[in-house]
Amino acid sequence: MKITANLDQIHNEISSAEKQFQRKQGSVCLLAVSKTRTVDEIMTAFNSGQRHFGENYCQEAVEKIDALKQPDIVWHFIGPVQSNKTSLIARYFDWVHTVDRIKIARRLEESRPENAAPLNICIQINISGEESKSGIAIDETESFINELEQFKRLKVRGLMALPAPTDNFDKQRAAFSQLNNKLRRLNKANPDLDTLSIGTSQDMHAAIAEGATIVRIGTAIFGPRNYVKQ
Ligand SMILES: *Cc1c(COP(=O)(O)O)cnc(C)c1O
Repeated sequence: MKITANLDQIHNEISSAEKQFQRKQGSVCLLAVSKTRTVDEIMTAFNSGQRHFGENYCQEAVEKIDALKQPDIVWHFIGPVQSNKTSLIARYFDWVHTVDRIKIARRLEESRPENAAPLNICIQINISGEESKSGIAIDETESFINELEQFKRLKVRGLMALPAPTDNFDKQRAAFSQLNNKLRRLNKANPDLDTLSIGTSQDMHAAIAEGATIVRIGTAIFGPRNYVKQ
């Protein structure tokens, strides 16, 4: 099965990038981005050992999560969070990578079930300026984190970004390095921040070079997407 072979190959690439860039072996988690993919495709990846899956569209994700009934899967929400979807997201997901507004954080806090572990949160940073509307400016990170401290049902884990795509390794690395430096500085006061969610199929190596702890890979696992929403 192609998905299984692709997963093997990506694990090998992650492992060799960890070596090449002096990262600890096993320090980079592979998040399989399963937006637009079927329940069968997800199950194929699951049966090959994949446990972390990322989804962008709430309704699509909830239908698949219900159909899969797979308690061993860790679900990550990585799309823009609409305020009318916060209740579903807080109930169905273990992580949200794309928090960039206090209003959204408050709604996630209020909807996170009491009996569930705190919801893991990454703050989305906009490092490509006006090209993307999502994410806070990088120099607003400290004050945003301070504001998030009021939310006891959320656990701030680190930073996430999706820079403007480029094929140039040095440019990819330069964008990610801003986040790497920011997280290191934050870590002085806040050693609990352990997550850098950066890197897609296109720029995974640059992301690992710059400290990625989660790479979000879709196409390289499942093949090209047939349609692109948004
Ligand atoms: C779709 C998506 C990815 C995966 O991109 P691929 O190029 O398919 O690897 C990663 N991160 C986010 C936020 C995405 O929306």
